Amino acid sequence: MAKHWAEPAVTALRANGQRVADLDTSSTPGFTGGKREGKELLAERATVLSDLQEKLFAHGRTGGTRSVLLVLQGMDTAGKGGIVRHVIGSVDPQGVDHASFGVPTPEELQHDFLWRIRKRLPAHGQIGVFDRSHYEDVLVVRVHELVPQREWEPRYDLINEFEREVSENGTMIIKVAMFVSLEEQKRRLRERLERPDKYWKFNPSDISERAYWPEYQKAYETLLDRTNTDYAPWYVLPADNKWYSRLAVTELLIDALTGLNLDWPPADFDVAEQLRRLDES
Ligand code: AMP
Ligand code: MG
Repeated sequence: MAKHWAEPAVTALRANGQRVADLDTSSTPGFTGGKREGKELLAERATVLSDLQEKLFAHGRTGGTRSVLLVLQGMDTAGKGGIVRHVIGSVDPQGVDHASFGVPTPEELQHDFLWRIRKRLPAHGQIGVFDRSHYEDVLVVRVHELVPQREWEPRYDLINEFEREVSENGTMIIKVAMFVSLEEQKRRLRERLERPDKYWKFNPSDISERAYWPEYQKAYETLLDRTNTDYAPWYVLPADNKWYSRLAVTELLIDALTGLNLDWPPADFDVAEQLRRLDES
């Protein structure tokens, strides 16, 4: 067992039919340490993650077909950007393909909802990161009835089929739903309004969306129930503590990459012969 973890993040956080409304967003499932231990451990584990990622990259460069896709979902201020910066930021940018999904463009709206998603799937050897995803099409779209129910309802099954296909093609999928409390969101939005270096993150509609909190919770609950599969599992992440979110996602990625069981690619040349040539050169 890794230091300070009583239970690994993969089991402590795995979605298991819990009610989203009952989640203690300030909890730190599986972790026995506090903020200081969490931050120290993150620095250590970032190195492990970075080494594993390099192996994945090398694998892709030498004809391997595996990849990882991290799907991040959460309300505004849940900390998706912080995961990208502080977790993904610790690995080699060459090996990362980051995609964020906002309001669909007119062109995107002319296609089915998975069209823009398919285009951003990670290539072999890459870690793909989705900051929002196809799940918006059963979240904001459902809450605001942007399309009628007869159109969004079948999407849960379509998403499962899609993710099965993606995973069968060699992509390890990890989905993380980040939850902050309504109070913590208020605090973080206030900070965005009080600090000029944070204005750029603020959007007046973030405040309007707060009125729909129960509807979003219900929409999250449904998608956790209907799209939590073995080939694309959901993890429910209490996200009031940023240090915990970052550490937990680091552990989830380490677990996924370790599960790929990759070795360093063997030399496709005669090492002794090349050493001799080098000496002679
Ligand atoms: P942000 O992540 O803060 O840049 O905001 C992106 C915005 O795009 C959020 O308000 C999302 O709800 C919205 N968005 C993302 N995907 C969709 C979608 N498929 N349909 C409508 N709105 C979306
Ligand atoms: Mg936003």
